[in-house]
Amino acid sequence: MSEFQKLYQKHEKRLEDTQLFQKAYKSALYHERWKKRNLNVKELKGYKGLKTIPFTSANDLRIAWENHSVEDLILTETVGFWYTTSGSMGNKKWIPWTYNDYQLAGVAIAHTFMKTLSPTDRILTIVLPPPFISGSSPFKLLENTGKLGTPIEVLAFSPEYVQDGFGLLMKRSPTVIVGTPSITLRMADEVAINTPKILKARADMEKSMKLRVAAFATKLKKIYPKNIFKDMKYGYFGGESLDPYRKAIEDKWGLEAFDVYAFTEGFSGGYECKEHNGMHFPSHHAIVEIIPDKELEKEESDPDYLAGTVLASEAEKGLTGELVVTDFKEAMPMVRYRVRDAVKVIGNDECACGEDSVRLKIIGRTDSVINLGIIRLSAIIFDQLLRKEFKNGKVNLWEVFVSRDKYKPKITLTIEPEFTNNEEEFKKELFESLHEFDLFQRGYDNGLFVFDEIKIVSELKHEVYGQGKSRLVRYHPNFFEEVKM
Ligand SMILES: [Zn+2]
Repeated sequence: MSEFQKLYQKHEKRLEDTQLFQKAYKSALYHERWKKRNLNVKELKGYKGLKTIPFTSANDLRIAWENHSVEDLILTETVGFWYTTSGSMGNKKWIPWTYNDYQLAGVAIAHTFMKTLSPTDRILTIVLPPPFISGSSPFKLLENTGKLGTPIEVLAFSPEYVQDGFGLLMKRSPTVIVGTPSITLRMADEVAINTPKILKARADMEKSMKLRVAAFATKLKKIYPKNIFKDMKYGYFGGESLDPYRKAIEDKWGLEAFDVYAFTEGFSGGYECKEHNGMHFPSHHAIVEIIPDKELEKEESDPDYLAGTVLASEAEKGLTGELVVTDFKEAMPMVRYRVRDAVKVIGNDECACGEDSVRLKIIGRTDSVINLGIIRLSAIIFDQLLRKEFKNGKVNLWEVFVSRDKYKPKITLTIEPEFTNNEEEFKKELFESLHEFDLFQRGYDNGLFVFDEIKIVSELKHEVYGQGKSRLVRYHPNFFEEVKM
């Protein structure tokens, strides 16, 4: 039996020791839905019990949040920190973490980093400020690497502040970067723009001929981060799929890139090791299950069907399905939470790195979202916004096509109108309606994606899949491929 399998044995006992199901049942997030299933919660035990519990989705979290008081939702008297996730629906979800929850997650992250980093490394990290979970990660990193005896220097900036921090970064060259792939790639452009300016300013201040020559030289050739941050070795990237950006980032930054998987709702992150063959999911304080594709199909034809799952410790190489997570958080444990990521099992044996936890690859989404990387827009919201009452027309059918413009995701919207009396004005109204959606607005205004154009056609043919369902969101094959820069 592998260490990973032994851990899952311990987790089964931990389910009983902590009375996780019985406690969770008290939360309004679970109570009604479990009751409907006639679960005998008192008798629920171990993995057998776990597999009879209905799944929980982001939508359940949202509904519970809207309809209940905090006291009805949380299981502890106090909370340490409230994190938020903007979510593809645009509604905020607030996730309570206790101090212990926060501590456990921090130690696990530090252990992972210390496998490759040394005390002399300096981490540059670009994070969203609180209440986003990434906002606390720089502090967690310093505290927990410190607790392990080897505190690692952290240079942390919010995206808006990177430019102001540039002078420091030039003097205190980082060796590691932690961030999201698209922002890191975008930073490469900023570096090209800023470096000559900074060198010139420094030259003026220090009256250095050498710097002045350097500033001039940078104008002649394109500057990449690797020309500036010569000590850079590693990059850890999360928040969206690394693969399309991996090569471009490695080339421009001169580093070895690692994929990282995390989500705000709970424990159980994944990370890529030096082998670069899927992400390890060590599951220190969580249980990972996978709903196999076949079970997902059964569920689709019968919404009341409770899909069967395979435990991560028993999943065979090659299995594909949807990720489900149960964790041991105190304030609001996630019980059978569907993150809506589709995964493939890459391996479940000892890896050359020494770790034997399951290795997974994220291969897509299982819900209808317009996936633009770090921004995911709900197709349901899109539908509502496009079907509003407009002066200059009415939408009959719509389709979003996602491709790429250099490294940025690009949306092309095609509309088959029921009628329109002024195409140009109608297009403007449609765009304005989408722009009211705060996630769309933030992404668009900050240039995180390109909104190509709205095409009006007389007949729109949807791609049909499954049991006659039509596909509202299509992707250009190049969207999933490496970006070329
Ligand atoms: Zn490994």
